[in-house]
Amino acid sequence: MGTFQIDFSNSRKQRVVGIDLGTTNSLVAYMDVTAPKVIPGEDGEPLVPSVVSLTEAGEIIVGNPALQALITHPDRTIYSVKRLMGRGIDDVTEELKLFPFRVAGSGESVLKLSLGEKTFSPPEISAFILRQLKRNAEAALGEEVRQAVITVPAYFNDAQRQATKDAGRIAGLEVQRLVNEPTAAALAYGLDKRKDGVVAVYDFGGGTFDISILRLHEGIFEVLATGGDTHLGGDDIDNLLLKIALEDIESEWKQDLSGNGEAVQTLRRAVINAKHELSRLPAVTLVFDYAGKQYRRELTRPVFEKLILPIIERTLAPCRHCMNDAGLEPEKIDEVVLVGGSTRIPLVRASVERLFRAKPHTELNPDQVVALGAAVQAAILSGDVQDKLLLDVTPLSLGIEIMGGLVSRILHRNSTIPASATEVFTTAVEGQTNVLIHVLQGERELVKDCRSLARFDLKGIDPAPAGLARIEVRFLIDANGILNVSARDLRAGKEQSVEVKPSYGLTDDQVEAMILESIDKAQDDFQERQLREARVEADAILAAVEKARQNDAYFDLEESDRDLITRGLNELLVVYHGEDHLLVRAKIDQLNQATMKLAENMMNTAVNQALKGTKI
Ligand code: ADP
Ligand code: MG
Repeated sequence: MGTFQIDFSNSRKQRVVGIDLGTTNSLVAYMDVTAPKVIPGEDGEPLVPSVVSLTEAGEIIVGNPALQALITHPDRTIYSVKRLMGRGIDDVTEELKLFPFRVAGSGESVLKLSLGEKTFSPPEISAFILRQLKRNAEAALGEEVRQAVITVPAYFNDAQRQATKDAGRIAGLEVQRLVNEPTAAALAYGLDKRKDGVVAVYDFGGGTFDISILRLHEGIFEVLATGGDTHLGGDDIDNLLLKIALEDIESEWKQDLSGNGEAVQTLRRAVINAKHELSRLPAVTLVFDYAGKQYRRELTRPVFEKLILPIIERTLAPCRHCMNDAGLEPEKIDEVVLVGGSTRIPLVRASVERLFRAKPHTELNPDQVVALGAAVQAAILSGDVQDKLLLDVTPLSLGIEIMGGLVSRILHRNSTIPASATEVFTTAVEGQTNVLIHVLQGERELVKDCRSLARFDLKGIDPAPAGLARIEVRFLIDANGILNVSARDLRAGKEQSVEVKPSYGLTDDQVEAMILESIDKAQDDFQERQLREARVEADAILAAVEKARQNDAYFDLEESDRDLITRGLNELLVVYHGEDHLLVRAKIDQLNQATMKLAENMMNTAVNQALKGTKI
């Protein structure tokens, strides 16, 4: 059988690499013809420790050499900088207690860290790591690399994401997209090829533990729930073993080394090596040479497992919590993906398998899987036609009209796409059989100040008392920025949908203007929204009370109770058209109080029902 080569390369296209910018380790990967591959550095190792050091000669070093410098020049070396990304001085007091960050000051919003005699912001430090990865990629691929997809934890907020993008820019990389780490892991395993399903991603790294539950729907991942512990990881195992070794040494040598920074760091390296070996071997010997003396200790896997069990158990509670948040039982999880170097530990694998009652994916290297997924995402992006509109994030919020001429936002501005979100609404009018879904774009609170994108009717809803119908509205934006809005009556199962292109026709300047305007008008909008919401609530209770007044139960009330209700009604009507939302709310409360007995008597939840849920 003959073989022939096909040249898949396309010189017109820019290569986009995928980068996992980790707390402990970072790495870069690219798409090689058919499969993603990690790119090793000069030392042949793809993992670059996320450590940055400034030499006395004023040169920045990154990765393993910097890890060495952590022993010799701790005051010129920084690790775990990801913990500080996009955070202000007030948010990081906890981190500062646990990590030897040297804060040099905090300007407007970013804090500065000192590294020897210089100071840098966290994005600048991260940029040094990114530059190293960029250099590694350029050396391996033999071409300039200017574009990247970078991964971030699913729970990263806007500021943390922005800081990551800044780091990319400082490093000379155009960040094509930020991808959630669990999503990248699922992509690396090709789970997007499943049509639907639920994926749990268990990520146990060096200093952090993250659990995420994703729902896959037609190739798009939606984060259903996330959880974890930002101070739990392989480091805790290292610290435990280190403590035991130091105690051992003290009793053997009659010498306390715990205050000797250099000795401790060397012993820590030895302990970490032993831990890694134990994932592979049933027993290892920890060896530590110091000042002409040698410490040796045999460590078997059963002993090791007994020691670390409490640490592993600390990962399981967040997993249960996360399943609970997502409203899922373990049986509902279709796939489990292991991420992070610490999931190499056999006991971790066994514990995860027992918890989720499913064999986790371990085929890929757990400390590479996020970068591999980022490379898959990068390839998807660069494979797209160049002139196609590719939105990174939704530039403006999207939502629907609700009672009172107000907008209920469903997908927020800056959501990374593809994105989807679902919300359940209810009806406002008794016996309502259709609802108008009015899709809007913009940051303002009132419908009249937003841009109308589409309208459609959901017809054939089962007539029900107001507040009883359950209408699920789902917004889904695909990678090309196409918005699909669907509405479904959860009781009758009727569904309607519409497709719109939200950014169509808007220039960047217009988007900018809309955002600025919303900031400008925020105060007015807030007042107006409060008032309108209060009026919607008033409408509901007024209608409900009017109706109840025709019920026999009303006439069974004592006259004084009936008077109370009539007075409540009248007083609410008086303030209804005023401008003071607090007054409207107060009168609603008063009327509510007055009708308590009536509601009880009617044994009919209609009044209460009418007050529940956001009404379309
Ligand atoms: P992060 O996502 O936090 O940057 P990684 O996923 O690279 O971190 O995981 C780093 C952690 O994994 C370290 O604590 C390291 O000691 C641990 N680790 C790596 N390989 C193994 C192994 N073979 N056995 C046990 N732990 C390991
Ligand atoms: Mg990681």
